[in-house]
Amino acid sequence: MKHQCFPLYGVSSFHSLKKNKIDMEVYLKNLKKRQNKWENICIRCGACCGAYEDPCKYLKKEASGKYSCEIYDQRLGLRKTVGGEKFRCVPIKEVMHNWWPGSHLCAYKNGIKRKLF
Ligand code: SF4
Ligand code: SF4
Repeated sequence: MKHQCFPLYGVSSFHSLKKNKIDMEVYLKNLKKRQNKWENICIRCGACCGAYEDPCKYLKKEASGKYSCEIYDQRLGLRKTVGGEKFRCVPIKEVMHNWWPGSHLCAYKNGIKRKLF
């Protein structure tokens, strides 16, 4: 997900400072809620991380059969596959219009096809 800098408010008094702080807290809370909602769409099939080809070395299969990323919070950037190939880990929004092995499983791609978002 691409982030934008928050616009800065003009602060003229303690009350507006306090109000801006509350506004920012509400804003960040809503942002987090929307982010969680978006991330919960993922069915963790692992396909976008190479589960059906040469996988990323940080991709782990769990006992449940679902996949997870060992470094999820720091995942974006230059990474390597188990086979040693370099690639860039990017937010799913940047690649969900592409094809990759197993991409027919992707909940985001399927959501777009069904016009859910
Ligand atoms: S670093 Fe990126 S590609 Fe690798 S497992 Fe994590 S999310 Fe997937
Ligand atoms: S391919 Fe789509 S549904 Fe599967 S793990 Fe990646 S983002 Fe989630």
